Amino acid sequence: MARVAIVTGGTRGIGEAISLALDKMGYKVAANYAGNDEAARLFHERTHISTFKWDVGDYDACIEGVKQVEQDLGPVDIVVNNAGITRDGTIMKLTAEMWNEVIRINLGGCFNMSKAVFAGMRERKWGRIVNIGSINGQAGQYGQVNYAAAKSGIHGFTKALAQEGARYGITVNAIAPGYIDTDMVAAVPADVLEKIVARVPVGRLGQAEEIARGVSFLCSEDAGFVTGSTLSINGGQHMY
Ligand code: NDP
Repeated sequence: MARVAIVTGGTRGIGEAISLALDKMGYKVAANYAGNDEAARLFHERTHISTFKWDVGDYDACIEGVKQVEQDLGPVDIVVNNAGITRDGTIMKLTAEMWNEVIRINLGGCFNMSKAVFAGMRERKWGRIVNIGSINGQAGQYGQVNYAAAKSGIHGFTKALAQEGARYGITVNAIAPGYIDTDMVAAVPADVLEKIVARVPVGRLGQAEEIARGVSFLCSEDAGFVTGSTLSINGGQHMY
């Protein structure tokens, strides 16, 4: 029986590449998204991968969403917590709303989704949870206290949940991407981006597929002894 994988934010950007990579591995993939129906429709047309719409920041919606995926595809073995947003601004400009929204979706989404699948994985004694963090959660970033706090939280969340899953065949790992060429990075002003790329030893932005390859490994049968780890895929930027 093919394993079932949910990729949150799986219809665009890094998530799209992850959905495709897991599909190629023979997994049955459910690509979740939040509100961009047109992008989801085009993604489904291109890939024939099933799409499911819910807000990962909403606990009840995650429980219901997972139920729907299980009805359609079967018990969930793999969750990639990839959905994320930015609401950037220095603390002088950041509102409580911008803070709450980023924590609710980026960090709360990891809890909501893991909670929705963990009991089933424990029962079946197999699971893979991969959380997409960020180099900005490791190193911080000017104008991103909300995003950096949420992503840093993801790295702690990963290590704590890995300890709870270890005895049950459930691995929990994180990937910390550097700057990847997606819509999220297209929103960064060109002059800021130029300075960022100048600090990347490899000298370029990453590609979504380069993150997806790391996710594929962590979701494979072969990765059963890897848990609580953070894989940095950032062109060497973490060294600076
Ligand atoms: P994009 O903005 O290109 O895509 C985001 C995806 O997440 C979309 O599918 C979007 O759905 C979905 N999404 C957003 N909010 C929610 C929500 N509340 N519930 C469900 N789905 C949601 O992002 P990227 O591909 O660039 O980023 C993917 C992940 O990688 C994020 O966690 C990001 O923080 C992280 N990351 C990205 C880096 C980069 O350089 N791009 C660097 C480091 C980390 P919809 O289409 O409906 O809007």
